[in-house]
Amino acid sequence: MLFAGEDTPLLPNVLDKHGCTEKNAFPYRSQTRQPCFILENASRSIATKLASGSEGKYQCHQCHASIEIDRMRSHVGQHILCRLLGVPENSLHEQIQHCQPCGFCGRDTCTIDLKKSRNAFKVISSCPYASEFKLGNAKKSSKRQPCTNVPIHCSICDIDPKTKCRPVFWKFNIFHHIQTVHPAHWSNSSQRTQNLPSSFVDVLSVSDFELQEIVPLRSRPYPVPATTTLLSQCEPVHNDNPHARKRIRVS
Ligand SMILES: [Zn+2]
Ligand SMILES: [Zn+2]
Ligand SMILES: [Zn+2]
Repeated sequence: MLFAGEDTPLLPNVLDKHGCTEKNAFPYRSQTRQPCFILENASRSIATKLASGSEGKYQCHQCHASIEIDRMRSHVGQHILCRLLGVPENSLHEQIQHCQPCGFCGRDTCTIDLKKSRNAFKVISSCPYASEFKLGNAKKSSKRQPCTNVPIHCSICDIDPKTKCRPVFWKFNIFHHIQTVHPAHWSNSSQRTQNLPSSFVDVLSVSDFELQEIVPLRSRPYPVPATTTLLSQCEPVHNDNPHARKRIRVS
């Protein structure tokens, strides 16, 4: 096993052969800053090596907190939401990557996809910090895991004739995708989406509970139209009818 920065005579030769020019940080990168020489199992081993030493815990790249693997998505999603809504996190060791950060690790080197299996979609990722989770549960904000950053299909992209699916993005990254690929659905003046199907807006929305838990000091509004979001996306509230789907305004 080779690790970044380790003093082994073989490492420079191997990395040169794979076009890596940045060799002192992981992942290794080529001259054009593209990640290279990625071995998924090796990546996971390196991530484990970098973990705090606690059993089953991994070190967050951004804040260096030691996080259980099944909570990493919700944890890193909080850093991503802070960046999206202009909440400064000045003490981070590594900033969240721009544009399309991985929802599991916050870097831009990992792939994400949804594969249909029977009646449900399964999350497929190359991330060393990926863990299995149930999409249905992850879409609901809770005290333990307030963040609902999950992979979603872009419902205004065309269906890929090969895969018969639409492209997949992390929920908080879809806004950058809409700005750049579907500019007619982005309002520069309000910095929010516009003219999207309401079912898609529901998918992109977050609950007031999630915003208050993660970004109470946000300086920008969550970028869906200032209309509604589903209260049922957050923790159950005391209500005579547990199935009631009450809409509330978000800002
Ligand atoms: Zn962190
Ligand atoms: Zn990742
Ligand atoms: Zn799209």
